[in-house]
Amino acid sequence: MFEKVLIANRGEIALRIQRACRELGLKTVAIHSEADAEARYVRLADESLCIGPAAPGLSYLNRSAILLAAEVTGAQAVHPGYGFLSENADFAAQVEAAGMSFIGPRPESIRIMGDKVAAKRAMREAGVPCVPGPDGGLPDDPASILAIADEIGFPVIVKAAGGGGGRGMRVVKAAGDLLDAVNVTREEARRAFGKPELYIEKFLEHPRHVEIQVLCDTHGNALWLGSRDCSLQRRHQKLLEEAPAPGIDRDLIRRVGERCVEACRQIGYRGAGTFEFLFEDGQFYFIEMNTRLQVEHPVTEMTSGIDIVREQLRIAQGHALTITQEDIRVQGHSLECRINAEDPFTFLPSPGQVSHWEIPGGNGVRVDSHLSAGAQVPPYYDSLIAKIITHGASRDEALSRMRVALAEMRVEGIRTNVALHRSILDDDGFRAGGVDIHHLERWLAAGRTA
Ligand code: ADP
Repeated sequence: MFEKVLIANRGEIALRIQRACRELGLKTVAIHSEADAEARYVRLADESLCIGPAAPGLSYLNRSAILLAAEVTGAQAVHPGYGFLSENADFAAQVEAAGMSFIGPRPESIRIMGDKVAAKRAMREAGVPCVPGPDGGLPDDPASILAIADEIGFPVIVKAAGGGGGRGMRVVKAAGDLLDAVNVTREEARRAFGKPELYIEKFLEHPRHVEIQVLCDTHGNALWLGSRDCSLQRRHQKLLEEAPAPGIDRDLIRRVGERCVEACRQIGYRGAGTFEFLFEDGQFYFIEMNTRLQVEHPVTEMTSGIDIVREQLRIAQGHALTITQEDIRVQGHSLECRINAEDPFTFLPSPGQVSHWEIPGGNGVRVDSHLSAGAQVPPYYDSLIAKIITHGASRDEALSRMRVALAEMRVEGIRTNVALHRSILDDDGFRAGGVDIHHLERWLAAGRTA
């Protein structure tokens, strides 16, 4: 059982994880780049170690430096947070080979889910509904490729098995464009992911993004914690999330949740994970599983009452989950606005020094942030600086609380997207609930009608 955890991340999530460790009486080691030396979570940690210069490749992605930091400080476990090395199966294996606990799934699970063809096959075997299309990779022979696409029916989407971050995908509307698209995507996949394998599935034209959070221990217990809707996205980046997904039949969500849990049992999944689905015309279609903690995990914490990070730590310590599926009730509604250091109109990053910092509070308001007045937002990393999360008995109450919270938020010295969030909350489409994944971009293109 470990007592000291190295947190291999930065920003708000480094502080979030540190807090959970401290609640459990665990010692923490913060690792940081030269650019983050003054960060609050570095100051608050029991120990801290600079592991390299600002560039992520030399610091937060530098596996040997992180493993050395763990050895030097005597850390017995590593929490990877999200992004960076969190879905790197080799890193997870190295951590375990060094005799430490990786606070996440087994390396093998990360590997399977990182291969989208293998993931889809595993999900279909467990009865999780998938996007129509074959389970296997695409053959080389043009006639067979055309036959597969014809059988699915156009439009289709050609995707790289090793793809990620919204890259390595191409939508094809007609048979005449298919072979070119396959060739270009294959080349891109080879270059970007070192793996030319492709697959093809039906392209859904107006889906919502709905996901299911799971938690699994090493004693065979697996739970699903409800749904989240993350359809408000710009360039595949989520901006505002909520739990539960509005307007979807509870029985349907329960049935899908049960399939997710069954899939976890079948692959021997450990820890926290998220099943991502596209939801269209009343049906769920699995697209991928994220084998890590997610940015939007707080909305599930607010509606389920379960501290997901604490459970991750306890699971990694070998404890059994103390809650059962019957104990989990979705309570009220929760929203999360991702506050980014960026211009609210041009979306250009806006790093710099925060001169003034006032965050909201009050009943049903939670702010996850590592910043304070005087802090620096370095230009080298993701621009997320805070998450404002509200909870209410109903969606309307959570929305009113978010409106008040955003009005209280005052940041000076850098630009933020707070104003963008304020106008999204006034958009009729969003207020009604259940918009599709193209809604935000359509609304932005139409000149923000709110
Ligand atoms: P990544 O790992 O790169 O994020 P995903 O498979 O999760 O790749 O897909 C990213 C996004 O691409 C989805 O959120 C969705 O917007 C779009 N997408 C993926 N597959 C489909 C599909 N079959 N139909 C419509 N859109 C899709």
